[in-house]
Amino acid sequence: MLNKNAKYGAQTRAIHAGETPDPITHASAPSIAMSTTYVVSDASAQFSANALGEEAPFVYCRWGNPTVRQLELKLADLEGAEAAVAFASGMAASTALFLHRLKAGDHLILSDVAYAGVAELARQTLPKLGIEVEPVDLTNLEALKNALRPTTKLVYAETPANPILKLTDIRAVAEVAHAAGAELAVDSTFASPIATRPIELGADVVVHSLTKYLSGHGDAVGGALVGRAEPMRLLTQDAGIHLGGILSPFNAWLTMRGMATLPIRMRTHAENALHVARFLEHHPRVTRVIYPGLESHPQHELARRQMQVFSGMLTFQVGNGRATAQRFADQLEVIHYAVSLGHHRSLVFYLPTDEMQKNSFHLDEAQMRVYREFAGDGIFRLSVGLEDAEDLCADLDRGLRDG
Ligand SMILES: *Cc1c(COP(=O)(O)O)cnc(C)c1O
Repeated sequence: MLNKNAKYGAQTRAIHAGETPDPITHASAPSIAMSTTYVVSDASAQFSANALGEEAPFVYCRWGNPTVRQLELKLADLEGAEAAVAFASGMAASTALFLHRLKAGDHLILSDVAYAGVAELARQTLPKLGIEVEPVDLTNLEALKNALRPTTKLVYAETPANPILKLTDIRAVAEVAHAAGAELAVDSTFASPIATRPIELGADVVVHSLTKYLSGHGDAVGGALVGRAEPMRLLTQDAGIHLGGILSPFNAWLTMRGMATLPIRMRTHAENALHVARFLEHHPRVTRVIYPGLESHPQHELARRQMQVFSGMLTFQVGNGRATAQRFADQLEVIHYAVSLGHHRSLVFYLPTDEMQKNSFHLDEAQMRVYREFAGDGIFRLSVGLEDAEDLCADLDRGLRDG
């Protein structure tokens, strides 16, 4: 096992951190502990989440599992954090965070460009519990300062934001939130710990959908929260054990296997994405391309400061989005017309702005103007995979050609 105090590089840590050879068989690859319960040798062991101490043995799967634990240690290590807690999905992780941290009368500031599922959860479910939710443009620090109240417990950011790739300056927002006594959570799904480590920039909690870059192969759903040791232990107790949205050991194992190659995958995702972004920028049918690695991204300077690689997500626009989307669905040979992202396979999907606003975001007129100014109207979200970049460009050209 890696010496905790030694300075290892990201690739070494992605492969080895958290993993231990099986103590009985000495198998080099981690074992999958597909067991719901554990044989207890000390008959004084207690059956309550409230009795869960730091060094508690494994008792029941919802309390903890050796395979899931290894994944949590690996993720915490890559994020430069003390601890991580895994959940059944990214949405289960966000739900756990909200229900654990917020109570009736509390105020939540949510980025106005948060993931649609989180925006819907915050708008539809949290107010039923008496929690006040306010969408705020977190690139506008004055707006954030004005929105913060004594009851604001949490500021929830997402960078780069799904799907429009707007960035949040984590260090600046953390400073403002902390000065007002609020914590900052950052959904870093689009970045992965290889591009951005929010804890090191002042965030209190990092949210991940493991379903995306971390597992990386489109075959395992999962989520995680990352942060300081004691808050994460309390989260396990309250949200993991009582709300029960835990990760399966098999999905933890698949995700760990994916994470071993995360640094090299992220480098290739980014190289391919830049290649495809430049191709699209010069394509006669494409009117706009947004990629943090392009000089034309409105926040390219922040991207250079905050992201070590620019990840593999980009958006683009064409004149007739709806018809082009259907041509993509019919004609693409390599890229799958599908939702989700961060997989080795490239994925593209068309997101009409009006529908997203009506179903998910519910922004006011002024916020919607800012949204459209940044993202335009009707965007293709492209998750650039690990195929040959030239093949991806040829595939896109095939779909764009006769429009
Ligand atoms: C997919 C996604 C989520 C939700 O994760 P699931 O694993 O699908 O529940 C949250 N945030 C972002 C940015 C995402 O892309």
